[in-house]
Amino acid sequence: MEEDCIFCKIIAKEIPAEVVFENQHTLAFLDIHPNNHGHTLVIPKKHYRNVFDTPEDVWTEIMKTVHHIAGAVRDGSGAKGVNISNNNERVAHQEVFHTHIHIIPRFENDPHKPWGSKSYEDGAFTAVAESIRNRIT
Ligand code: 5GP
Ligand code: ZN
Repeated sequence: MEEDCIFCKIIAKEIPAEVVFENQHTLAFLDIHPNNHGHTLVIPKKHYRNVFDTPEDVWTEIMKTVHHIAGAVRDGSGAKGVNISNNNERVAHQEVFHTHIHIIPRFENDPHKPWGSKSYEDGAFTAVAESIRNRIT
């Protein structure tokens, strides 16, 4: 448990949450300020900051829970689909620094847009692909 981590406090039941699913490794509960009703967060029970320090086995457990409950989040909120998203570091709009995945119910004609679409200038497409490839071990 990390001091001053709101999600660790939810796991420890020090602050209340609307829990929808729990197993040995993960907890799923409603986001208090939802994009749409039924917006659910899936977190590991052990504290990690985000993708960069979360071990692969823990990440796998989180994603197993996401997969397990995604249909229930969609149907239980009356949605037609969901976005599954995850923010890592402040520049990516991470606000709570305890690893979490968002499952966001989506409805016909709701206004949310997950991301925009830029273009690549000359050479940048290949260059950034090469730069990424060179760092994958
Ligand atoms: P982030 O921007 O870090 O990816 O998302 C953090 C999410 O946690 C936000 O959508 C925010 O509404 C939610 N959140 C922050 N504090 C609390 C809380 O105390 N309880 C619950 N259930 N959700 C919270
Ligand atoms: Zn935490």
